[in-house]
Amino acid sequence: MNKPLAPTGLNLDEPLLWEMGSPGRTGFSMPRRDVEPFPLDDDLAGEGPDFPDLNEMGVVRHYTRLSQWNFGVDTGMYPLGSCTMKYNPKINEKCSQLEGLAGLHPMLPAGMTQGALQLMVELERFLKEITGMDAVSLQPAAGAQGELTGMLLIHAYLKSRNLTRNKIIIPDTAHGTNPASAALCGYRPVRVKSGDRGILTTEVISEVMDEDTAGIMITNPNTLGLFEEHIKEIADIVHAKGGQVYCDGANMNAIMGMVHMGNSGVDVLHLNLHKTFSTPHGGGGPGAGPVCVAKHLLPFLPIPRVLKNDAGYFLSEDFPESIGRLHSFCGNFGVMIKAYAYILSMGSENLKKASQLAVLNANYIKENLKSVFHLPYDRPCMHECVFSDKLQREHKITTLDMAKRLMDFGFHPPTIYFPLVVDGAMMIEPTETESLEEIDRFIEACRIVAAEALESPDLLRGAPKRCKVERLDETLACRQPCLVG
Ligand SMILES: *Cc1c(COP(=O)(O)O)cnc(C)c1O
Repeated sequence: MNKPLAPTGLNLDEPLLWEMGSPGRTGFSMPRRDVEPFPLDDDLAGEGPDFPDLNEMGVVRHYTRLSQWNFGVDTGMYPLGSCTMKYNPKINEKCSQLEGLAGLHPMLPAGMTQGALQLMVELERFLKEITGMDAVSLQPAAGAQGELTGMLLIHAYLKSRNLTRNKIIIPDTAHGTNPASAALCGYRPVRVKSGDRGILTTEVISEVMDEDTAGIMITNPNTLGLFEEHIKEIADIVHAKGGQVYCDGANMNAIMGMVHMGNSGVDVLHLNLHKTFSTPHGGGGPGAGPVCVAKHLLPFLPIPRVLKNDAGYFLSEDFPESIGRLHSFCGNFGVMIKAYAYILSMGSENLKKASQLAVLNANYIKENLKSVFHLPYDRPCMHECVFSDKLQREHKITTLDMAKRLMDFGFHPPTIYFPLVVDGAMMIEPTETESLEEIDRFIEACRIVAAEALESPDLLRGAPKRCKVERLDETLACRQPCLVG
């Protein structure tokens, strides 16, 4: 235990539990025994596992210290573009833990789960209203699974009309999961370039759209944080050739209450409840990627679906054209409860305001940093803005160096080297939940880092210096991961 303190003096170096403890130490004390000991069966006796002997305080301090090595939305600003790492009110978490909901067994008969079924139907209704689409399935467990569901829906729909098509158009500003989901469904992604303004032009779509093409997957707002303004005309071109329009709506946080996707020619769209609708994410916890569809795709939605008759709500599998199941039971119900509680507590006016603030905050950062970072698309953005390291590269400082240095100022780095259309990209998404003071602090830190790139580049190349772990050799860390700590 004589290891030195970490550089800040706050993060104690922490040994493994097995290196701590002392024989005979224990976490609890029991009253003195007042009965004779009774020998256990041979099977149960024996050595037991090799657990260290620790007292309660040792264990509590160990795990509390470990938790302090972590960084999350509850610790500080997390401007990771494309991820919407916003603060999620704890009340929604509490709602999802209500005993009657959290303790519900998924195999209980409908007569005993009316509340849960009603919650799902109402959440579907809210999401229909927010997106302007006709029907919703809450089943997919993540954005990427929502994409796959959407692809399967398009495939099933085209098949029902005796159309066999093998390609799908995917712009270079789509999210990286899009081509993967299309390929999983057997489609060949056809990449198209966005125009000078960072959005798609109708010309490029007219050129590639043909009768072998199932449709387009369009991320809107796209990964440059820009709104695809021509989505309606593009949808018309795709529809004219018998194709379908998939919209990746994971970035709904920018446009809630402002854009009616159903009127933009979109046939199917997915949402990320774990971005926009109050489920914390990162680290692989459960999520939900509901798909919202136009009427003609409804018969193909995953089963079971929650319906209602005179006797109440029930689960129905009676959809012969359905693509089937994508998840056990109805999906990740806990995530749905949080979204339901969030939407109810916000109300439609505040959901709209949340999007407006998310957009305002991103534009505020863009305007305040464009004098120190290169801004490849200098025009109003949506909920995130994308810079590059072009100005700093002359001094041999890269996006990676600057991202690492930001950690010394207590900020999680932005998304880096994505989207691929911008060389050395830094993609910043502040979300609506950061205060003006916090955003100003972030801007100040970025300005300091940009100045350091010119004045003291060595400082940046070695960054971070004030964190628990300094600069890693990332190649070595991938090839020979050391998982012990
Ligand atoms: C996050 C994101 C996805 C993928 O969502 P997962 O839940 O991580 O699978 C897809 N598209 C966009 C635009 C995203 O931002």
